[in-house]
Amino acid sequence: PDSIRVSEFAEKIKRPATEILKKLLLMGVMVTINQEISFEVAEKIAEQYNILLEKETKQEREEELINDFEDKEEDLRPRPPVVTVMGHVDHGKTSLLDAIRHSRVVETEAGGITQHIGAYTVDINDKKIVFLDTPGHEAFTAMRARGAQVTDIAVLVVAADDGVMPQTIEAINHAKAANVPIIVAINKIDKSGVNPDRVKQELTEYGLIPEDWGGDTICVPVSAKTKQGIDTLLEMILLVAEMQELKANPNRPAKGTIIEAKLDKGRGPVATVIVQKGTLKVGDSIIAGTAYGKVRALIDDKGKKVKSAGPSMPVEILGLSEVPNAGDILYVVSDEKTARQISEIRKEKEKQKYFASSSKITLQDLYSQI
Ligand code: GDP
Ligand code: MG
Repeated sequence: PDSIRVSEFAEKIKRPATEILKKLLLMGVMVTINQEISFEVAEKIAEQYNILLEKETKQEREEELINDFEDKEEDLRPRPPVVTVMGHVDHGKTSLLDAIRHSRVVETEAGGITQHIGAYTVDINDKKIVFLDTPGHEAFTAMRARGAQVTDIAVLVVAADDGVMPQTIEAINHAKAANVPIIVAINKIDKSGVNPDRVKQELTEYGLIPEDWGGDTICVPVSAKTKQGIDTLLEMILLVAEMQELKANPNRPAKGTIIEAKLDKGRGPVATVIVQKGTLKVGDSIIAGTAYGKVRALIDDKGKKVKSAGPSMPVEILGLSEVPNAGDILYVVSDEKTARQISEIRKEKEKQKYFASSSKITLQDLYSQI
């Protein structure tokens, strides 16, 4: 952060790099155009041109290029909730996600099964709910560790025949730490001899008091097998979402979070993003981690090509230079050059972590540039 590359410095003070290299040499500083000089040295050179140099860290430069801004209250519009399903292994997370998907998601006209993009949207009358397709805490925790929070509501699946188990408690703790409201789905109620009240009793020990017991935790008995209670669960999700007053400004450059990414043999890097504010459009210049590019195509959860995606919508993106990481924040920036610049700054930051000292250069290296 306290140094600047000679080429970048030259560009900043609008002087030829060769001239600067000569001045540096006179000061006894032997560097090449691609190497960095300290702020103090740069300041001295700038002085010779009567330019006052101010410190701008890589972080500041990055933020300036990204140009994220606070939205005005009046620009905010309601957006659908993004839901994660959590719970102990074998309590029915995958089954529940499948049951919801099949009871609600309309198959494409082509007759094909909905494709897996890491999230899917469910339509209820004129409202939508977005489900993250990866059950379990890993994805959730990994994303939170990177400072990304995409989840608005956690559905905690607890099997009625097994009750609260270690990963149930973990899930409760994760959701609480993230300040995400929990809706409990007491699953497998189709099984004979199960008692949902026993589960409720156990939950109270972890601070989740059911509504019908005077608390504020919504508990819905469900069966992923028979689909009993699924509609009620969806209604409850919408109810909680309404209380949260989830909003975003759809009319601004998009910001989102990568939830999945892979290298596809035919299509190159493919990433699924959940848009969090703004509207992502085909042709937008984007940056996510060190991956950058122009959006070549957007594909929705039904496998359909779309031109844009608004707040809370999951879409697959084609056109990135490399595969980003899950949890990386995606930004739309003014143009592709800016996106590439941000990528370069980030790559330099990464490099600095690994190579603290600079390499030696020969006189020949120097003369070839002057
Ligand atoms: P996960 O590990 O939480 O994703 O759990 P799965 O969805 O893989 O389910 C674990 C097992 O429980 C599977 O054998 C499912 O068929 C079964 N299962 C899931 N939901 C139900 C249910 O509502 N009723 C019954 N009887 N079995 C279920
Ligand atoms: Mg599973």
